[in-house]
Amino acid sequence: MKTVVLIDDDTSFRKLMGKWLTVAGWNVLEAGDGEDGIQLALAHQPAAVICDLLMARCNGFQVCRSIREQGANIQQPRIIVTSGSGYATDQQSAMEVGADEYLIKPFKGDDLIRILERQSARQISIAAAPVPPHKAPASLPADQPPRLKFWGVRGSIPTPGPSTVQYGGNTSCVEVRADGEIIILDAGSGIRRLGLALAKEFKDQPVELTLLITHTHWDHIQGFPFFVPAYNPQNKLRILGYEGARKGLYSTLTHQMESPYFPVSLQHVPANIDVTELKEFEFHVGKVRVQATFVNHPGVCAGYRLFTSAGSIAYLPDNEPFQRMRSHPGGQQTSDRLEALNYASDQDQKIIEFLKDADVLIIDSQYDDAEYQSHVGWGHGCVEDVVALALFAKVKQLFLFHHDPDHDDNQISKMLGWARQLVAMQGETLAVDAAREGLEYVLQPLPAKL
Ligand SMILES: [Zn+2]
Ligand SMILES: [Zn+2]
Repeated sequence: MKTVVLIDDDTSFRKLMGKWLTVAGWNVLEAGDGEDGIQLALAHQPAAVICDLLMARCNGFQVCRSIREQGANIQQPRIIVTSGSGYATDQQSAMEVGADEYLIKPFKGDDLIRILERQSARQISIAAAPVPPHKAPASLPADQPPRLKFWGVRGSIPTPGPSTVQYGGNTSCVEVRADGEIIILDAGSGIRRLGLALAKEFKDQPVELTLLITHTHWDHIQGFPFFVPAYNPQNKLRILGYEGARKGLYSTLTHQMESPYFPVSLQHVPANIDVTELKEFEFHVGKVRVQATFVNHPGVCAGYRLFTSAGSIAYLPDNEPFQRMRSHPGGQQTSDRLEALNYASDQDQKIIEFLKDADVLIIDSQYDDAEYQSHVGWGHGCVEDVVALALFAKVKQLFLFHHDPDHDDNQISKMLGWARQLVAMQGETLAVDAAREGLEYVLQPLPAKL
C-alpha cells in the first residue's frame, strides 16, 4: 500500500482529504503543520506529500525545499501543493522549490486522486550511479574519430570585447563527440553557442546529450538557461555531477533559474531532463568510460577523464595544486608544517596518477607565477605548475584553460609561449596549446593491437 503524508493546518479539510485517500487505497499519515510534516516525510519516505501552502509553522515552500534538499538521501515523493490562492506567482514559486503539482482549494476528491496518480509528464530524477546507457542520436556516426571542440575557455566571468577576440570571452564549455555520444563538459556561457550549433545541425531530429558538471560556480553553469536544445521537448538531456558543499546538484541548478533570476524554471524547461547526482568515481556514458576525482578548489569540484576508443581526455577546469598552495608563506598553514606538506604532496601525486598518460589534458592555467603569488588559495593554477604536472603525468597534449578575465589575447599568447619554452628547456615533447573558442582537436585512433 502506498503512503501519503497530508500536511494542512485546516483540520477539517485535512480529515476530508484523509477520508478520500483512504477510500482510494492509500495509507494516510497526517500532520497539522509543516515542521511535523517534514519529519513524517523524512521518516516514512512516502510516495506522495500533499501540503498546504500557507501555514504558520513552516509553509509549503519550506516543506518542498526541505524535502528536495534531501536529494538522493531519501526516496523523493511526488509533492502536491494545495492553496486557497490562485495567484500564478505562488504557483510558479511552489514549482520552483520542488512541487510537482499545484491544486487550488476547494477541489473534489476525484480531482485529487487523479492528479496524485498521474505520472509526471517529464521526470527529473535524482538517482545514484550506475548511470543508465544513453542512446546516441541516429545521425551521429559511431565510427567518427573522437574529437573535442572548445565553446568557452574563460574563467570566472564572460569577457567579451576587442581584447579577447582571438581566444574568446565565454566561460567554460567543451564539447566531446566520441563513440556515438555527445558529451558536454560544463555549462558556462559558451554552451549558448554550442546549443545554437546543435539545433542547426540536428534540426527537427531528437538529440540525446550528456552534460557533465565539474562544480556549480557561476562560470560553469550560468549558460545553461540559454541552451536551446533544452527547450525542445523531443530532446533528452542528462546532467551529471556531484553534490555541492551546501546543496545538492539539482537544488543548485534549480535555484539559478528561480523567478528573481530567470523567467523559466528548470521544471518548466520542455526537454526531457534527468539530473543525476553521482555517487561513484567511475561510470559510463554509453561506450565512454569516465573516471572522476575531486580537485583542490573551493567547495566541491570534480575533474573528469573520458576514455574514448582513441585515447583519453582529462578535464580539470578549476584546480590549484596542493603543494604549491601549502608551501607558500601566504597559503593555508597547519600546526605541523611538514605533515601539511607531505599531505599536499600525496594529494598532488594522486592527481598525477589520475592524469597518467592522458592523451589530452585541459586544465586550469589561470595565472603566471608572479600573479599566483597574490592569488594563493583562490583555487586556480599557474602555467609553471601545469606544465610540470603534465610532464610528470606524461600527458601528450596540454591545453591551457580557464583564462583569467583580466588577460587579453596578447597575455595569453605570451603565457603559451612561456609554457612551450618550459617544455623545450626540459627537452620534452609535450604539445602545448592555449584553448580558444572554436578550436577543434581530433584524437588519433590508437594503433590496432596485433
Ligand atoms: Zn571556474
Ligand atoms: Zn570554480
